[in-house]
Amino acid sequence: MNYNAWFECDLGCTYPLTEVIYRCKNCNGLLNVKHDFDVLKQRSAEDWKNLFEQRYMRTQYPYGSGVWGKKELVCPIVDDGNIISMYEGGTNLFWAERFGKQLGLSDLWIKQCGNSHTGSFKDLGMTVLVSMVNQIISDGGNIRAVMCASTGDTSASLAAYTSAAGIPAIILLPKEKVTREQLIQPIANGALTLSLETDFDGCMAIVQKLAARKDFYLANSINSLRIEGQKTISIEIVQQFDWEVPDWIIIPGGNLGNVSALGLGFLMMKQLGIIDKLPRIACAQAARANPLYRSYKTGFTEFKAITAQSTQATAIQIGNPVSIHRAIRVLKQFDGIVDQASEVELADAAARADRTGLFNCPHTGVALAVLIKMVERKQIQKTDRVIVISTANGLKFPDFKVAYHNFVPNEPAPQYYNAPIELEANYDSVLKQIDKQLGV
Ligand SMILES: *Cc1c(COP(=O)(O)O)cnc(C)c1O
Ligand SMILES: [Zn+2]
Repeated sequence: MNYNAWFECDLGCTYPLTEVIYRCKNCNGLLNVKHDFDVLKQRSAEDWKNLFEQRYMRTQYPYGSGVWGKKELVCPIVDDGNIISMYEGGTNLFWAERFGKQLGLSDLWIKQCGNSHTGSFKDLGMTVLVSMVNQIISDGGNIRAVMCASTGDTSASLAAYTSAAGIPAIILLPKEKVTREQLIQPIANGALTLSLETDFDGCMAIVQKLAARKDFYLANSINSLRIEGQKTISIEIVQQFDWEVPDWIIIPGGNLGNVSALGLGFLMMKQLGIIDKLPRIACAQAARANPLYRSYKTGFTEFKAITAQSTQATAIQIGNPVSIHRAIRVLKQFDGIVDQASEVELADAAARADRTGLFNCPHTGVALAVLIKMVERKQIQKTDRVIVISTANGLKFPDFKVAYHNFVPNEPAPQYYNAPIELEANYDSVLKQIDKQLGV
């Protein structure tokens, strides 16, 4: 089969995926990846499902990857030999039985996208982007480095994939706004790491200027190759439920590439007959960085970029999201909603769910706080199947948890507070303390 895909703007101008281009030369609009559906539709929905099942989490490189197992729907034009894969995707769908029961839900699941090579869902898109760069280079293209602005996770992912490929990476980070764990990842992978006295939006403005040079390839999600890889989250969720579509998906949003990707994955499956209905989507924002929420409140008739305030959910501390129009278009098609969470709400929600076996990052906390509000509003029904997208591994954000469980004593303790008790090392005092804490 001749599967094909290309970049296309909203007005229909097209460019090959091997071209170094992020906006249309004619209308300056963002480019999306389009696929040749005439060819894709020659395979029946049943056959697609069977093919994906055969490959899923098996050993034939690169098809065991959750992304490359869906290669025809993601990026068919890259040669298998140029693919840089770390077996991304295939992440656990955690049945949140205890947490769900506490909320009165019987069918609540957390998609653990942070259980990945660099600890966030960013790996799903980065494998596609870096593989395409590898393709361009092997075709003779002149790319000196791949670069990104980042709130910490994109840079970790870019550094891992480029160092596996042997391609230089340039990373622009807002100084002191990423965790130590996130900062050390590109350092260890050998990326040129530039720590700038600004916020993410400030780094983004500089990297977009650098992107005028064709020999620096831009890896931010303005580049829709990443969205193609992230789209597999939806396909994988449906596959994990034996091709049933859930009722609700709640996802945290910052630059809004991921919520766009989630929607596009479902739309593609519907177009191919793999599914026959769509879920509803809720996008969750931090109240201190909520431009999409503000737009939602106007019925999406207005959008204004804002200056994001500092939030514990640092990966979504973004005031001027690059995929705003993609996201609004998706949310309208999914009867979507947008809600927000305060700093206390996101920290309490993460800590509360941690007590039922999870270990949530602050962004997942934002989504969980919105979940709780939606249940309280009865927007979500008891028997609805609900998926919360967990975007990163909690281990990347230890200070967030330490701050929660190490409260300053003259403040009221947070609701799900728990801290170690220091004791002398003797049997009697240990037993006495256990009895005191657990009740005799
Ligand atoms: C990137 C990221 C997000 C936000 O995704 P967008 O596509 O920018 O909306 C949320 N959580 C984590 C952990 C991230 O790394
Ligand atoms: Zn155009």
